[in-house]
Amino acid sequence: MKALLESSISWNSIKKHPKDSYRYYVRQAVIEKDTNILSLEVGLNFMPKKSDEDRFKLILCSEFPQIKAAEVKLYYMEELPEEAETIRPVSKAPTGNNGKDKESIKRKGQKYQESPITGNRVLGKKISEPSVRISEILSKEEGVTVEGMIFRKGSRNIKDGKKLVNYLITDNSDSACVKVFVSGKKWEQMDALLNEGDFIKVRGTVSYDSFEGADVIKARDIEKIDAALCEDKAEDRRVELHAHTKMSAMDGLADVQELIDTAANFGHKAIAITDHGVVQAFPDAAKYIKEKKLDIKIIYGLEGYLVDDEQIPEGGIPVEKGLDSKTAQSYHIILLAKDKEGLKNLYKLVSHSHLDYFYRKPRIPKSLLRTMRAGLIIGSACEAGEVFQGILKGYTEKQLKKCWIFTIISKFSHCKTTGF
Ligand SMILES: [Zn+2]
Repeated sequence: MKALLESSISWNSIKKHPKDSYRYYVRQAVIEKDTNILSLEVGLNFMPKKSDEDRFKLILCSEFPQIKAAEVKLYYMEELPEEAETIRPVSKAPTGNNGKDKESIKRKGQKYQESPITGNRVLGKKISEPSVRISEILSKEEGVTVEGMIFRKGSRNIKDGKKLVNYLITDNSDSACVKVFVSGKKWEQMDALLNEGDFIKVRGTVSYDSFEGADVIKARDIEKIDAALCEDKAEDRRVELHAHTKMSAMDGLADVQELIDTAANFGHKAIAITDHGVVQAFPDAAKYIKEKKLDIKIIYGLEGYLVDDEQIPEGGIPVEKGLDSKTAQSYHIILLAKDKEGLKNLYKLVSHSHLDYFYRKPRIPKSLLRTMRAGLIIGSACEAGEVFQGILKGYTEKQLKKCWIFTIISKFSHCKTTGF
């Protein structure tokens, strides 16, 4: 108790004691039989910080796994009874443990040896059983094995230079908090080996952690594993003809390099880069496949904002009606450069859309596209495309055909992501 309390107090924030003696008195310590909840009241002759209570709770629960939760109260007592014990400030600074770092630590009453990291084995024994999805793990499960990507890691000083390490991992079915106690030296090795974005396989015990307020996995064994790569197993591989990079404002998160790598790993022969209204990803894309000597073709494209500035008389030739209304609805459209001429036209359209027709978005009038459509393959884009909007608006076949006038490829390209 004494040592646990000493390591829980944030001594740096405690003023030097006038009597030069910090003392504590346990006023109550009860473990409820049925619930295994510990109630602890500790009086101190100095003012502890509120957060010290939480730290003390965490340390107690970790040191005594049989406790389900702890209700802890640390408070100031003007006068302490005779039997109050003295506690000493402990230095919390990571001092490298003055060479006193122990290779083995005590846990659950039994000593277990901390072996150095070998190969992929970070901690404990080799894990041979397959892992389950994180979403499928149960509360209070023993010997559970999961794997996932680390998206956050951290450590806290506990005592004697020991560290409480936690990793937040996800396997995209759910996420979990993995905790483990290690020596300071072991943490240094783990910290160097495992970073955010790395994948680990973990075997441990699931139990409720009152500090986290959630179930956590207390790890016994940890292995570093290769990223679980997504594969395209289709016999006849597809080619993505509508893909956004970070250059699409509010519509893309991937670097163009990541996108190309993914398509190349899938064994795709080509990938279209179709950012919203812009073509800034092209130089990076071209440079990347050249440098990496990747066997994949870039289809240079664009997801444009098409505005209808035409009137088509019955059976007649379309006539321009102008773009007087700034609020004219724009529709998404996919333009893919088939050849050099198409690429040139694409660049011209991007320039005009920004310089001459920009209103909130770089818009492309239909009449302009009509004059510059050589070498371009035109697709209907997503649900914000004219064709699909027409269907939603209940257009007749005749009306739809007018939309289709430009469209060669029709596809529900955003079906999955936008929920249409
Ligand atoms: Zn779109």
